[in-house]
Amino acid sequence: METFTSDERALLAPHFSNVDGPVFALVDLPETVKAAMFARYSRYPGTLRRLFLDEFAASLPARGAADDDVEGARAAELFERIFVGYGDDSVAQLGGMHVAVEWCSNVLTKILQRPRLAGYLEQSTRYIAYDAPMPGGGYRYYRDESLGAEYAASMDFLFDSYSEALPRVSAWVDASYPVTEGEPEAARRRAVKAKALDLLRGLLPAASLSHMGIYASGQAYEQLIMHLLAHPLPEARACGRQLLEAVKSVMPSFVSRVEREGRGDVWIDYLSERRAAEQRWVERLGLDREEQAEAHSSVRLVHVDGDENQLLAALLFEAAGVPEDRTLATVETLSDEDRAAMLADLVGERANRRHRPGRGFEAVRYRFEIVSDYGAFRDLQRHRMLTVQWQGLTPDLGAEVPEEVVAAGCGELYERALDRSRVEYQRLRDAGLVDAAPYALCLGYRIRYVLDMNAREAMHLTELRSAREGHASYRAVAQAMHDAIADIHPSIAATFRHVDHSTEPRLERILAEIRGESRAQLTA
Ligand SMILES: Cc1cc2nc3c(=O)[nH]c(=O)nc-3n(C[C@H](O)[C@H](O)[C@H](O)COP(=O)(O)OP(=O)(O)OC[C@H]3O[C@@H](n4cnc5c(N)ncnc54)[C@H](O)[C@@H]3O)c2cc1C
Repeated sequence: METFTSDERALLAPHFSNVDGPVFALVDLPETVKAAMFARYSRYPGTLRRLFLDEFAASLPARGAADDDVEGARAAELFERIFVGYGDDSVAQLGGMHVAVEWCSNVLTKILQRPRLAGYLEQSTRYIAYDAPMPGGGYRYYRDESLGAEYAASMDFLFDSYSEALPRVSAWVDASYPVTEGEPEAARRRAVKAKALDLLRGLLPAASLSHMGIYASGQAYEQLIMHLLAHPLPEARACGRQLLEAVKSVMPSFVSRVEREGRGDVWIDYLSERRAAEQRWVERLGLDREEQAEAHSSVRLVHVDGDENQLLAALLFEAAGVPEDRTLATVETLSDEDRAAMLADLVGERANRRHRPGRGFEAVRYRFEIVSDYGAFRDLQRHRMLTVQWQGLTPDLGAEVPEEVVAAGCGELYERALDRSRVEYQRLRDAGLVDAAPYALCLGYRIRYVLDMNAREAMHLTELRSAREGHASYRAVAQAMHDAIADIHPSIAATFRHVDHSTEPRLERILAEIRGESRAQLTA
């Protein structure tokens, strides 16, 4: 093993979890230095700690340096040469940071959470009442004077409705759901509140302001910033500029191309031109708006790739020593019982939903087209090991008034709010503010989107999202997705042992809608 002098050890000790062992963590070093050192691994003959001593220790930025140098000359120079010069983008995956984005609308949160190679956590509408005034006063919704006084009046009307309904629906929930033996008072209060918040979140407009945290690599931030700067929504572009400043304050080299003439500007133009081209073609082909849209939730399995035999063959691939088509041919000679027994054995006992079978499950693909309320979409959009595409939020697909809200005596209040939201949406559109119009729409309005995933992700998503503590509207989607897979691939669906098909009044109603729709599809 390599030895270091006592002076060298003194330089190494603050920045490496150990100085002698072959496996060690990098500690308290700028992201760019860590990434640059790893980038040097490919050409440097020695070890990383020796590289640090040879090339980086002398140019580390001084703590709190007045010159705002957060990277050190060596790392910045290396990044400029490798990342910007050679265009080796992968080095930008070697550094990451945490960024908080606060007071952002529920339209912007979905734009921020589009990149899949990142981690996110967002303040929940299911556990926090959204009618508390903001620090400077007023309800928490996105404000922009160019949207006009009617917009602010409509948003205040929606929040007033939400605020008025909350205590009434909470009282109804408390009276309607009997106290179970030994249920602690505090837990009871939390459960009643969560149920009432769940029932009323559909009243909140997409303009409602949230807080979220992002953990991502430099590469993911660069992509996200350029998408934000290319976005037609002023809120998104403003956030893109702020995010750029935040990343530059910690690891400027990772986003140095964004403001580089002939690099970031060209890339941003390319992105906005793609959006414009899509818009042009849907208008030319008359596909931009559905006049008589069917106003109900639906889950449709619109495309399937692969079958149960292919999944079995793929599950055996890594252990086999023959070409896959030979394995597939062998599997096809087995009886149904043998195949089912083999699949059950290959998947094993799965004591809990985190015990997931191997990559063979990625050989089968399901494409779902879903219509659900925006609230459920917001939750399901967070899944990253899939392709999710969503259409703009409009009132065309309608919204559902939860019967529990009607039973609590707030049905008319809810209907009036939905109407006010739809009218304000249309006023903004008529005023030419097409991109801003969705701000006005309640989260209860439905949206159309696709979730395209392999069977392994389908197992994760349906098991996680059908769980009892989930929101009824996305539990219904998860259960319906599992049912659709079971119709096509019963053996595969049988391995999704942790899908919770238990229901409750609201969930049952949404499921009835979805099943009604798929039956209509089958008989269409
Ligand atoms: C009941 C419930 C309450 C929730 N409450 C909140 C909340 O209050 N706020 C909030 O923001 N979110 C909330 N979530 C959403 C949750 O935090 C996740 O965003 C969501 O479940 C999708 O992420 P996932 O990793 O489960 O699935 P996917 O993104 O589909 O990933 C599938 C699997 O791939 C792997 N994977 C995916 N991405 C990564 C990665 N970057 N690094 C390593 N492995 C990865 C993991 O093994 C993961 O399980 C809630 C979810 C549930 C079910």
